[in-house]
Amino acid sequence: MASDAVVVGAGIVGAACADALTAAGLSVTVLESRFPASGATAAAMGHVVVMDDSDAQFALTRLSRDLWDAMAPELPRSCEDERAGTLWIAAGETELGAVRRKAELYRSRGVAVDELDADSLAREEPNLRAGLAGALRVPGDRIVYPPAAARFLLDRSRSRGARVVTGAEVSVIGARRATTRQGVFDGAVVINAAGVAAPLLTPGLPVAPRKGHLVITDRYPGFCRHQLVELGYLTSAHGRSAESVAFNLQPRATGQMLLGSSREFAGLEPAVNRRVRDRMIRRAIEFLPGLARLSALRTWTGFRPATPDNLPLVGAWPQTEGLWIAAGHEGLGVTTSLGTARLIADAILGKTSPIDPGPYLPTRRFTAAHA
Ligand SMILES: Cc1cc2nc3c(=O)[nH]c(=O)nc-3n(C[C@H](O)[C@H](O)[C@H](O)COP(=O)(O)OP(=O)(O)OC[C@H]3O[C@@H](n4cnc5c(N)ncnc54)[C@H](O)[C@@H]3O)c2cc1C
Repeated sequence: MASDAVVVGAGIVGAACADALTAAGLSVTVLESRFPASGATAAAMGHVVVMDDSDAQFALTRLSRDLWDAMAPELPRSCEDERAGTLWIAAGETELGAVRRKAELYRSRGVAVDELDADSLAREEPNLRAGLAGALRVPGDRIVYPPAAARFLLDRSRSRGARVVTGAEVSVIGARRATTRQGVFDGAVVINAAGVAAPLLTPGLPVAPRKGHLVITDRYPGFCRHQLVELGYLTSAHGRSAESVAFNLQPRATGQMLLGSSREFAGLEPAVNRRVRDRMIRRAIEFLPGLARLSALRTWTGFRPATPDNLPLVGAWPQTEGLWIAAGHEGLGVTTSLGTARLIADAILGKTSPIDPGPYLPTRRFTAAHA
């Protein structure tokens, strides 16, 4: 049976696309090789965050966060949605300049922020080490549990008639069809949302796996209240170095502390790299000395689908008739899943999107500076 749209991949991006397309009245089939949210979505922190590495990144993360805000009242408890806010921490005076610049930019674009001096920061998060210079608080940023959010989006799509086929590995995407061992699925459009596997189905897509480690502790409710991120995180996330770590700690709704983050271009080897993990933990203890007394329960790794310019690939892929791409979301795919789905649905339906889709088109040029 043919559908209006066939979505390949049931991570958070594919799930969000299915949700947006069924909401617009299209018939949708989702094909997932394993089970929903079994890829990067299962490994992620779930920080829904407005980021300002580029204007295009700001526009997409901001649109997406607005869409999360609108959806929040409908999320079931399993999604552990909390509007905890982010604290971007300035270690020294030099970084306070960055706090001021960031504050101006966010305010000028209508995103609420507060600047915290050293004393207010210490009052907000007493477990941070003494002597930090201050922070930028972004109170509207959220925390969600990504696999549950992806399941919610898929369930909502199913309630509108979507068909979700698990254990269906797509071997080939051709003109308006996706081929699996279970058969051929025809669709007026096919959306490649296969995460790090997207280039296997659409050769030429510039997506590479960028490995990350996370460590989760036992339950220590109240140890911290906000998502805490060092300002240097942006350098780690958006530089292209082979290996980097930055302090990033998230209080989970369970009372557990989720500690990130590391970035490595190291292929698809899932084993924990103890040297990188230990570097990441040491970096966090520099900011939160009390972390050293908490007990860690588990470490895991995941692979962010990275692109050369840190922006996702969202839009039509003219080399194959009817093919659309929704992939390459690196470390922001939980956040930007909803904005991506909106761009995809608007473009397929011929509607104007609230933001310019140009910077995310998969056919854009990547310059040598992005290599
Ligand atoms: C350590 C870590 C921390 C992160 N933290 C955050 C965060 O705090 N905030 C944030 O916004 N983002 C975060 N991310 C990024 C986020 O997890 C990803 O950008 C996002 O999950 C990508 O979603 P996706 O649906 O594109 O990919 P995936 O979740 O990988 O989904 C792709 C799906 O496609 C399926 N698939 C693959 N090949 C085929 C095929 N041939 N046929 C059928 N199905 C196929 C896979 O099984 C998979 O289920 C983090 C990532 C990592 C690794």
